[in-house]
Amino acid sequence: MNVLVINCGSSSLKFQLIDSVSEKVLAKGLCERIGIDGSKIEYEPYNGEEQEKEVSMPTHNEAIKIVIDSLLNKETGVIKDLSEVGAVGHRVVHGGEYFSKSTIVTDEVIKKIEECNDLAPLHNPANIIGIKACINAMPDTPNVVVFDTAFHQTMPPKAYLYPIPYEYYKKYKIRRYGFHGTSHSYVSKKVAQIMDTPYDKLKTIVCHLGNGASICAVENGKSIDTSMGLTPLAGVAMGTRSGDIDPSIVEVISEKENMNVKEVLNVLNKKSGVLGLSEVSSDFRDITKAIEEGNEVAKNALEVFANTVVRFVGAYVAEMNGVDAIAFTAGVGENNQAVRKMVCEQLGYLGVSLDEKANEKRREEIMISTPDSKVKVFVIPTNEELAIARETLELLS
Ligand code: AMP
Repeated sequence: MNVLVINCGSSSLKFQLIDSVSEKVLAKGLCERIGIDGSKIEYEPYNGEEQEKEVSMPTHNEAIKIVIDSLLNKETGVIKDLSEVGAVGHRVVHGGEYFSKSTIVTDEVIKKIEECNDLAPLHNPANIIGIKACINAMPDTPNVVVFDTAFHQTMPPKAYLYPIPYEYYKKYKIRRYGFHGTSHSYVSKKVAQIMDTPYDKLKTIVCHLGNGASICAVENGKSIDTSMGLTPLAGVAMGTRSGDIDPSIVEVISEKENMNVKEVLNVLNKKSGVLGLSEVSSDFRDITKAIEEGNEVAKNALEVFANTVVRFVGAYVAEMNGVDAIAFTAGVGENNQAVRKMVCEQLGYLGVSLDEKANEKRREEIMISTPDSKVKVFVIPTNEELAIARETLELLS
């Protein structure tokens, strides 16, 4: 069965058509600037070159239609008939406490996702638009939703409750939810597979380090703690997000810079992290280049970033009373050797021994610890689209 995997942002739509049996990507692409002038689609079939075309997409409905047209195109398409799309799997950011698993879309499910809009105001409404557009375009095709938060619903109250008045949890569901769940689940399962150990017998820490970054402690196949919180702003330093800071800083910046809370949070979300601290860029490639050119401030920024990762890994080793494996994934985790080295060197006390030669590799599934390292360390390229396709197939069969 072919699964169309859809990841909707407020003005974008990423897609992949995956043969869920062979797990081959038949086509993939991206619609950008939906609802804005100059919207375009990038489309790449498995047997051809990537193409880019400017085309009007006032809403996600047109974007979905253009994706379908591309898949069906006589010359560059990969299917002959829409019936060859057996299901659509959607990435949805926030499932609140309603969803601890992926689920088949019904009116009731859409209503519950809508109820979580307050918890992810930038993402959930876009995800719902994408689901509705697919239902419109393919009324007979089942839709499945896979949540970023679902994997973390196994966290115990001691991990998800914030030490603030309990009534805020009861009234507003203010708690830690965590994100990147599809990636943490995919990578931790892959670790178990590589180590040839049952998933429910391992203690793994997954470091998903991309522009957004989060760490997850996976004990016996369950997420027991993770660094992002009510929103993705919490946890380790990120490309543009601050991660954890003293909450009083919000008041200080607000008073000194004459900003309201929303404006300060905008700074913490979009102008902080490695970008804010380095004054160079949020892109780790630019940071590496600046460091090579002798930029001390950029070096500080990278060290702060790596140190926040070390802090969470150390905390999660303590929470799990040990660790068998640590895995790095996502753009920075898969590509940035310096960050992996900084983190691993701080974990020598645990019995982590880095294989420097293996650590030179990029974007490759590889063990980067030495054979005698007590704790195994891996780089595992994440594949959220494939994980969504697998979940979709599993649910529908
Ligand atoms: P993601 O959010 O997972 O797409 O990750 C984006 C981050 O990964 C950016 O900060 C990039 O600098 C970093 N990244 C992506 N590719 C590379 C690469 N080849 N070398 C170093 N960093 C990379």
